Amino acid sequence: MTKEPASPRVATMTDCYRQILEAVGEDPSREGLLDTPARAARAMDYLTHGYHQSLEEIVGGAIFTTDTDEMVIVRDIELYSLCEHHLLPFIGKCHVGYLPDGKVIGLSKIARLVDVFARRLQIQELLTKQIAEAIMNMTNAQGVGVVIEARHLCMMMRGVEKQNSSMTTSCMLGRFRRDERTRAEFLHLIGGH
Ligand SMILES: [Zn+2]
Repeated sequence: MTKEPASPRVATMTDCYRQILEAVGEDPSREGLLDTPARAARAMDYLTHGYHQSLEEIVGGAIFTTDTDEMVIVRDIELYSLCEHHLLPFIGKCHVGYLPDGKVIGLSKIARLVDVFARRLQIQELLTKQIAEAIMNMTNAQGVGVVIEARHLCMMMRGVEKQNSSMTTSCMLGRFRRDERTRAEFLHLIGGH
């Protein structure tokens, strides 16, 4: 099996992971760990690939004209991100709703849009806001709502505040913020939060 040469980014991370293995008291030359620094580097590169994507290239071609003004809801989008404080995963679901004003985003692209921001080092509150603002900017919607429910491994694995390891954040823009009925309809449709 031939391997592609590592990118400079992955090569740097490989060196760093080798040092981390030594620092935790491991022997990076033992058989089970021989490929671990390179493997971990490729994994980290994948988990942060959102830094190298642009919204235009991911979603740009999938904005369509519409005459509907009914609320569009996409529920239960799987979400995997890394907390910027501990570099540990937070995992959950993202729910998106918006009221179109002439333009909609292709359905499958909403999940990819979420990923552009989730595949970076994040805090959940900011991630929620970035997704909402991106949808607003790309569609000029009358309003956008985003709710994220996620469990944070930095809480769960470190044994602190386990009872608070699940967190819900929301961002409401435009009519979702101004109009209580619109917001209530959205929250009802995503499952009553
Ligand atoms: Zn954390």
